[in-house]
Amino acid sequence: MQHFPIFLSLRDARVVLSGGGDAALAKLRLLLKTEARIEVFAPDPAREITDWAAAGRLTLTRRALSAGDVAGASLFYAATEDAAEDDRTAAIARAEGALVNVVDNLEDSAFITPAIVDRDPVTVAIGTEGAAPVLARAIKADLEERLPVTLGPLARIGKAFRKAAEVLPFGRARRDFWRDYYFDAGPRAVSDGEQSVEDTLEDLLAQHAARESRPGHVAFVGAGPGDPELLTLKARKALDEADVIVHDGLVGPAILELARREATMIHVGKRGFARSTPQDEINAAIVEHAATGAQVVRLKGGDPTVFARLDEETEACDDAGISWHVVPGITAASAAAAAIGQSLTRRNRNSALRVLTGHDVRGFADHDWRDLAKPGQVATIYMGKKAARFIQGRLMMFGADPATPVSLVANASLPDQHVVASSLAALDRDLAGIDSSGPALILYGLRPHAAQAISYSLKEEGVL
Ligand code: SAH
Repeated sequence: MQHFPIFLSLRDARVVLSGGGDAALAKLRLLLKTEARIEVFAPDPAREITDWAAAGRLTLTRRALSAGDVAGASLFYAATEDAAEDDRTAAIARAEGALVNVVDNLEDSAFITPAIVDRDPVTVAIGTEGAAPVLARAIKADLEERLPVTLGPLARIGKAFRKAAEVLPFGRARRDFWRDYYFDAGPRAVSDGEQSVEDTLEDLLAQHAARESRPGHVAFVGAGPGDPELLTLKARKALDEADVIVHDGLVGPAILELARREATMIHVGKRGFARSTPQDEINAAIVEHAATGAQVVRLKGGDPTVFARLDEETEACDDAGISWHVVPGITAASAAAAAIGQSLTRRNRNSALRVLTGHDVRGFADHDWRDLAKPGQVATIYMGKKAARFIQGRLMMFGADPATPVSLVANASLPDQHVVASSLAALDRDLAGIDSSGPALILYGLRPHAAQAISYSLKEEGVL
């Protein structure tokens, strides 16, 4: 991020602009929305500019800018559309201490003006650092459509009510009140006029003040395999509303980013054989926070009901008398199957699907190897990286065909997703060859769909 977005107060500030043509007009239209004192220097200004000057909305000097004109100004726009003239005036402005923007010249500008969605006092600024103005315009158009024009009046009326809302305790109670106002009661009242919105605010505040504060609660939420777009809408909502989020190592930053900014984040790392937070401590953290009245989200990679020790945590909640519910997520096996373009079950091949773990609390997990070694079996093997050799040995010992196809999928659904078409005989070697510290899933009995395998190898060779 080369440009850091901030909102600059222009109350009583001077903003000087050199230029009187189209570029100047475009900037002035924006600047006239602010409380700045605007001064324009132009020998031959456009009609609109003289009208604005006549209306007292800006000060116009009918000559080119010269030394001394920018002294004490906060911002300066060089907008003559003449590169040499803009260079000259920008140099003056810099020497006189103003922040300089040269229109259509990113390189020489100390700041840039973003695309703006104006619902004053709500302002959305969109910048692409000059990379893609088309994109900025598209995002602006999208937001213009999405943000109701009533947002501005609602925010203005709401702002005047902030003091009154302080009767509600800081935190969730106040937040719930404002959410109801902005997203429910406010929009409904706004068409009946300002007074109606003010009355609504009064009523809403009384309701919220009377409402018993919500007891603590724990949502066990599946975060899916990693791609934030594979979160469920319910998961998104839970992340939006959480006071505390307890998450493990599988949940990546792209998903945590979506959490409410004020939420307390607690990382209880738990990956493979690395040091992890003991389960008792995780249980205790969840229960303690919920007992203070917090809305806790226990965020687990994939689905919370698959190899995620859910029951230990729900039992701890039950013991502490804390209510909870589960929000399912897309499990790694589903994402891995999608990555290889194969279904996990198939008529005349396998009518049963096994979901196995490579290791459990006691070490390498034992399974019904004899049955699994039969032809046509399909198993999704979680946490199998370290146990690969053991699994391979057991299956071969029970007579499985060494040529049985196996697909390895690392970082399923993530940008660094990696698919390897392997076989039972090559399983341990191929797994060791995956250059990834991320999670990997073994799909026993499945080979990548031909198209998938091809696109993968082309990617490897840099063709795609
Ligand atoms: N609850 C999770 C599983 C947790 S166990 C779920 O439903 O997916 C952790 C194991 O899940 C890892 O060792 C790995 O085998 C698998 N896994 C999780 N995310 C994965 C991903 N994005 N790609 C491949 N495997 C993944």
